[in-house]
Amino acid sequence: SECLFCSIAAGEIPSSKVYEDDVCFAFNDIAPQAPTHFLVIPKAHIAPAGDYGGKFRVVAHCFEVISKVTKDLGIAQFRVVSNCGEQAGQSVFHLHFHVLAGRDMTWPPG
Ligand code: AMP
Repeated sequence: SECLFCSIAAGEIPSSKVYEDDVCFAFNDIAPQAPTHFLVIPKAHIAPAGDYGGKFRVVAHCFEVISKVTKDLGIAQFRVVSNCGEQAGQSVFHLHFHVLAGRDMTWPPG
């Protein structure tokens, strides 16, 4: 696959997996911006972010995964971020949700 996150979800590129089911894959970010920083992605390629292609059940499922994994990790306070487009800081054009925790966060974000 030409898409990095498709390759990670397929296990073709190694990652530090934190969760997987039929629909979603979650793994630690390679350049963590907080003590806990993992990404939740749909296994299906959805791009560009912001246009979910009508796949709202998949998006909702990502948030169920975020809820489950943070609970399993004992994390009660966290931030979820999805960068949509280059101006917002998106660098991988496969829909993903950052989950960040373990430090004070600024608001508004930089
Ligand atoms: P974004 O900039 O919102 O598109 O987020 C992409 C994220 O993917 C960044 O936080 C990167 O650090 C992360 N990333 C890039 N390559 C990898 C990789 N091979 N494994 C894990 N995370 C990665």
